[in-house]
Amino acid sequence: MREGGRDDAPALEVDGLSFSYSGKPVLEEVGFRLEAGQFTVLLGPNGAGKTTLFSLITRLYDRRVGTIRVDGFELRRHAVAAHARMGVVFQQPTLDLDLSVRQNLTYHAALHGMGPREARRRAEEQVARVGLGDALKTRVRQLSGGQRRRVEIARGLLHRPRLLLLDEPTVGLDIAARRDLVERVHRLCVEEGVAVLWATHLIDEVYPEDRVVVLDGGKVRASGSVSEILAASGGTSIGEAFDTLTTGPVEVVS
Ligand code: ADP
Repeated sequence: MREGGRDDAPALEVDGLSFSYSGKPVLEEVGFRLEAGQFTVLLGPNGAGKTTLFSLITRLYDRRVGTIRVDGFELRRHAVAAHARMGVVFQQPTLDLDLSVRQNLTYHAALHGMGPREARRRAEEQVARVGLGDALKTRVRQLSGGQRRRVEIARGLLHRPRLLLLDEPTVGLDIAARRDLVERVHRLCVEEGVAVLWATHLIDEVYPEDRVVVLDGGKVRASGSVSEILAASGGTSIGEAFDTLTTGPVEVVS
């Protein structure tokens, strides 16, 4: 057994998580878990608390009640180990527009302690994975919005995390780029065996085989497979379930 972790630990385990902004509660007793290779959609309307939850998992905010474990490592006690196991794509793009794709990635790899040769190899590998192998020398400024997002995903996977967090990654993309990104990340999730937490308010980004955590008003209204969510809501589609779960009283699946 590893120090601080557990061999059979989920990629992400959130338990009894509560958070307030200046006394105003925005997350209340939030709990769910993600296993390796699972694509989980954090589905909630605007203001549900998705970005706040991401800020707590990435430790931008730290005042909170409850526990967060990444690959078994409790975030406060084993911050370095927990961070080394997560990759993040924030809602606001964070690439340097004046650097090339390769420079953006190798700089980030160096922050994770990789030597220049490994950084270069991983950058090339991951950029090819997201279909941008020809764009390594291109300045990010010259890329489309969808391509930039793909670079951020490649960057998030450079250090082989167990958990990839994406906060509303399709905001601002046109329909074709959005569909392409959703499809690519679903494939990466299986191919890399990484656990993905994908925050969105867009129901059509949910695939039938996904797991879903429905968040509304800072509370988990239901979580589980798509069929469990449908059973909890009595709806016949995720859209109907979402309408029911985010407006009326609901049953929590797990
Ligand atoms: P989502 O990402 O689901 O849209 P957020 O986490 O951004 O939700 O917001 C959850 C709630 O917290 C909303 O009511 C929002 O107005 C409030 N909120 C978000 N950020 C702050 C902040 N910095 N200060 C005070 N309230 C905030």
